Amino acid sequence: MRNVKAAITVLILATLALAQGATRFHPGFNLFSKDQDVQLGQENAAQVRKQMTVIKDPILTEYVNRVGKRLVSAREAQDSGFPFTFEVVADPSINAFALPGGPMFINTGLLRAVDNEAQLAGVMGHEMSHVILRHGTNQASKSKLIELPAVLGSQMAGGGSMMGKLAQLGIGLGANSVLLKFSRTAESQADLMGSHLMAESGYNPIEMARFFEKLNAEGGQRAPQFLSDHPNPDNREKAIQEEITRLPQQSYGYQTGEFDRMKQAIAKIHELKPKPLPQNQGQQQ
Ligand SMILES: [Zn+2]
Repeated sequence: MRNVKAAITVLILATLALAQGATRFHPGFNLFSKDQDVQLGQENAAQVRKQMTVIKDPILTEYVNRVGKRLVSAREAQDSGFPFTFEVVADPSINAFALPGGPMFINTGLLRAVDNEAQLAGVMGHEMSHVILRHGTNQASKSKLIELPAVLGSQMAGGGSMMGKLAQLGIGLGANSVLLKFSRTAESQADLMGSHLMAESGYNPIEMARFFEKLNAEGGQRAPQFLSDHPNPDNREKAIQEEITRLPQQSYGYQTGEFDRMKQAIAKIHELKPKPLPQNQGQQQ
């Protein structure tokens, strides 16, 4: 009997030791189904494509898709089942955003600002993590707890456009959209899960922390757009560095080999700052 107890103790300790790995996150409370995340994201993505200029340059498109596919191959992205897509949009501000269910838009300004491929992978991994953890529809669910069930229920029964009905509740892409502007807790989670996606893809997650440091340093009066859309959690860089120590040893040598070619292509593009998305697309509160 004593031996059995000892064996169980050893087993429990071994399990605890294994559990010391990467921090685990799960999506929070949500009234949307995962299919509804996908539908909402795709409808909003169609709107984004009408209102912003999608860059069709084959070098840039192929490049972000190669980096994106690499990140999508990581386990947490695979397990989510979301169909991620990657497009470049003409906007000189340093930013990227991903809609529920997976459509991601990467600003030309971000491609210009990154010093290496891992930094781009860092921002993309961070955005993908917001999708995987369903932060947008989680926030929408919490903010419209009473009104949402009827809308989502009728949606399931009848189909049709979801975006219009949700815009009436203030859930859209307007300024401070609940779908795109997250809490500091959500930001911390996206940083850490993003570091997992990077590490598994062969990118050194420390480059995400370095890029955020660089944005902070450039901040001053005109903080880069990424930081105002993705508020800085406390000790952002330190938290990422600590998470890296919990990850299995990896070699971080992966590169597409196309970074310089991407930089040459982006240097040839001269874009104007786009008009903000119309407020009636989902004015908040
Ligand atoms: Zn974020």
